[in-house]
Amino acid sequence: MQKVASDLTKVLGPDRLLWEREHLLTYGFDGTAALSGEAGCVALPKSVAEVAQIVRYAAANRVPIVTRGSGTGLSGGSVPVAGGIVLCLAQMDQVLELDPKNLTIRVESGVVTQKVAELADGVGLLYPPDPGSMRISTIGGNVAENSGGLRGLKYGVTRDYVMGLEVVLADGEVVSFGNKCVKDVAGYSMKDVFIGSEGTLGVITKVLLQLVPKPAAKETLLATFSQMDAAAETVSAIIAAKIIPCTLEFLDKITIRCVEEYAHVGLPLDAEAILLMETDGHPVVVREEAKQMAEIARQHGAGAVQVAQTPEEAARLATARRVAFSALARVSPTTILEDATVPRSELADMVRFIQQTAAKYAVRVGTFGHMGDGNLHPTFLTDEKNTAEMARVEKAMAEIFDHAVALGGTITGEHGVGLAKKAFLPKAIGDASLETMRQLKRTLDPNNVLNPGKIFD
Ligand SMILES: Cc1cc2nc3c(=O)[nH]c(=O)nc-3n(C[C@H](O)[C@H](O)[C@H](O)COP(=O)(O)OP(=O)(O)OC[C@H]3O[C@@H](n4cnc5c(N)ncnc54)[C@H](O)[C@@H]3O)c2cc1C
Repeated sequence: MQKVASDLTKVLGPDRLLWEREHLLTYGFDGTAALSGEAGCVALPKSVAEVAQIVRYAAANRVPIVTRGSGTGLSGGSVPVAGGIVLCLAQMDQVLELDPKNLTIRVESGVVTQKVAELADGVGLLYPPDPGSMRISTIGGNVAENSGGLRGLKYGVTRDYVMGLEVVLADGEVVSFGNKCVKDVAGYSMKDVFIGSEGTLGVITKVLLQLVPKPAAKETLLATFSQMDAAAETVSAIIAAKIIPCTLEFLDKITIRCVEEYAHVGLPLDAEAILLMETDGHPVVVREEAKQMAEIARQHGAGAVQVAQTPEEAARLATARRVAFSALARVSPTTILEDATVPRSELADMVRFIQQTAAKYAVRVGTFGHMGDGNLHPTFLTDEKNTAEMARVEKAMAEIFDHAVALGGTITGEHGVGLAKKAFLPKAIGDASLETMRQLKRTLDPNNVLNPGKIFD
């Protein structure tokens, strides 16, 4: 790798090509527990021309490239398991154009998600995808993982807002897909091939995003339940009543306790579950929907339904959900966060199964998540040094994934496959789907240079 580092130093200069051990260690992991690797060197390009040059070099010399944004991924996608070059796009952080006439924004991949949200807000628009990590994660990482967020139920996920991409292909060629047209069916929708491809098919360098008008009003409610099933049934009943709230988030008892110890939001410690519910849109509709959601929650056994009276109170209630992962992560040395997802009608069954499985294997699991999307985050609180407990965690996790698939669900709703879930992928999608994906990978990256060993071997 010394030669690679020395060759790439000629492209980037010594400040943007890192190869000292202390630097390599910091780029050796992402947000996923118990997974790490070590890069041969870390490249910090500032332009698409530099990215293309590095990719061409890697292709010619068969050196693996692991593209990286902020490293907040939760499936090991940016962990350099095969050594090689970590291509970190964090310094490609220019906002190229905000176009309120067409409701679009064009940014380089290293722009942090929150910045896009703030710029949109400044002109009365909304960028809806809001992953819990949005203050740190990059738009490139969001596109590569097709990330979701707290508003997914009403507004969808990152894919729904990507209008165009600039991508450096595995041979170093730079290609653009998509444009500002609302309708465009000229050929295959190639941008969609790269969305959610986890750095295995190309390096995304620029992104054209769609924005939407900012809703005029929003109401935030917090409902408390003494039974977990009641919370799940409330979600199903709200959807059945043809209300699509922008947020329907859930926290179980363990998570409530951890959040309260961490953030002092004033959550009821005796509750088995809470639901954070938000509706946005026209003020009249919002008021009516909030009233209906409160009634439905009460009809399904909610003990208390708190309605935020001010934006500050709404932000405080939403904090309970936003800090859930951080709050759980303080409790034990190793926090393994999963994202089993099921059709919404199966939520009560899935939540019960997670609890039973945790008890069966004597492991501690806090569950929270985007309940309105059927996307749960069972979070294992463990210690990777305790090998006996880790073995039980793995068995419990495998059973939870199997059950999600048996209920018509999936092994990951938003975090991607990466390394963490690749063993479960064949069972989840079947051999024919897997082979189609392999063929696509072989076509676009015949030398297996881009993020090798991720999603599948
Ligand atoms: C506290 C916390 C909360 C989170 N909440 C959510 C949530 O609500 N919803 C959700 O979906 N996820 C969530 N995540 C997961 C994570 O933040 C997202 O997956 C995010 O999109 C990753 O962005 P990143 O810039 O950190 O990417 P990285 O972690 O650096 O990379 C992720 C993957 O994308 C690839 N990649 C990165 N940039 C590019 C690029 N420019 N071109 C090609 N490939 C690229 C990498 O190779 C890797 O496979 C959360 C994580 C944390 C730590």
